[in-house]
Amino acid sequence: MKNLRRELDQRQQQGLYRRRRVLQSPQGREIIVDGQSLLNFCSNDYLGLANHPEVKNAFITAAKQYGVGSGSAHLVNGHCKLHHQLEEELADFCSYPRALLFSTGYMANLAVAQSLCGRGDSIIEDKLNHASLLDAAQLSGGKLVRYVHTDYGSLQSQLEACHSNNSKEILVSSDAVFSMDGDEADIKAMTQHCQQHEAWLMLDDAHGLGVLGDHGRGSLSHQLVPHQQVPIYMATLGKAMGTAGAFVAGSEDLIEYLIQTARSYIYTTAMPAAVAAASLASINILRESDSKQQSLLHNITFFKQLARQSEIALMPSNTAIQPILIGSADKALELSQQLFDKGFHIAAIRPPTVPKDTARLRITLRADHSENDIRALINTLSDYL
Ligand SMILES: *Cc1c(COP(=O)(O)O)cnc(C)c1O
Repeated sequence: MKNLRRELDQRQQQGLYRRRRVLQSPQGREIIVDGQSLLNFCSNDYLGLANHPEVKNAFITAAKQYGVGSGSAHLVNGHCKLHHQLEEELADFCSYPRALLFSTGYMANLAVAQSLCGRGDSIIEDKLNHASLLDAAQLSGGKLVRYVHTDYGSLQSQLEACHSNNSKEILVSSDAVFSMDGDEADIKAMTQHCQQHEAWLMLDDAHGLGVLGDHGRGSLSHQLVPHQQVPIYMATLGKAMGTAGAFVAGSEDLIEYLIQTARSYIYTTAMPAAVAAASLASINILRESDSKQQSLLHNITFFKQLARQSEIALMPSNTAIQPILIGSADKALELSQQLFDKGFHIAAIRPPTVPKDTARLRITLRADHSENDIRALINTLSDYL
C-alpha cells in the first residue's frame, strides 16, 4: 500500500498541493471568498449568466413545475420535455441537425471516444487538449497519439502514421479554444487534413460557445466553417452559458448512435429539468442581443492594450482566457496569494493541468468588468511581476 501522507507531503514541497477556497457568494464580477471581497478574474462565467435574473427565474419556475430530481436516466423516464426542448434549441442555435444533452462536459467527451473508437482504432489529439479529451481516448481502448500544439503538419504526420498502422477508425479531437492557453485551433486546416484521411473530426468548444461568433454561436461561426465540415461538435453549458451540463451536436445518425452506445449517456441520471430550463433562458438572452459579447470583446482588447503598455508579456490569445506564464509552480502560487491579498481572485494553474515549468496565472475576463477593474489589475500585476 502506498504511503498517502508521504505523497501528500511531497506535493506540498513541490508547490503542487491543491486547496479549495470557499466561495460565499454567487459568481459575479465581485465575489466573497474565505470571507474576503474580491474582484473575480478566474471564473468561466464570462458573460455573467450564472447569476442572471432571467436565468434564475427560469430555473425556479421549472423547479416549481417539475421538481428537482429528474428521477432516472434519459432512456428510462428521466427525459423531460425541457431536456428535449433544450436539445432542439441547441441544435438550431449551433446549426446542426441534432444535439444530445449530457450532465457534464467530461461525460460528453468520454461518450464520443468510447462510442466511436475501441481496440484497433486511433485517437489523435492536440498535446494541450483538455484532460477530459485525453482521458476519453485512454478509456476508449483505442490508441492515443498526440501532435504538437496547433501544428497541423504534425497532425498530418500522425494521420499518415495511423493509416500505415491500419487503424480502422481515426478520431481527431481538439479544443477549439484551448482552456489553459486561450489560443484557438485552426479549424479549416483541421477539416482539410481530416477529410483527406477519412478521419472523424471532433471539436470541444467549451470556451467558444457564448463567447465567439455571431451572438455567441461559437468557434465554427467565428472561423466561418460550415457545420458539415465538423461532424462532431461538443460544447459545455457550465461556462459562458452560466448553467451546467454539455451537449454533442452532429448528424441524426451520430446522435442516434450515441444514444444507443455511449455508456456515460446511458448509465447516469438525467440533469435536473430546471437546469435545462435555465440553459434555455441563457440561449434566449444570447439570441436577443450580442451586447454581452461586445462588452467582453471590449474588455479583452482593453486588457491586452494595457498589458502591452505595462510590458506585461501575454500569451497569443484573443479570447477571454489571458494567461500570464510564470514557469515555477511555487512562484505562480505566491503571486496568486499576493493578488488575493490585494483583492483579486486569480488561480495559479500548475502541473499536471499544464505541462511542467509552465505554471501560470490564468486570468479570465468578464463582460461586466469595468475599465477601472482591469486598470487596477494591471497596476497591481505590474508591481509584482
Ligand atoms: C470545462 C471543460 C470540459 C469539461 O466540462 P464540464 O462540464 O466542466 O465537465 C471539457 N472540455 C473543456 C475544453 C473544458 O474547458
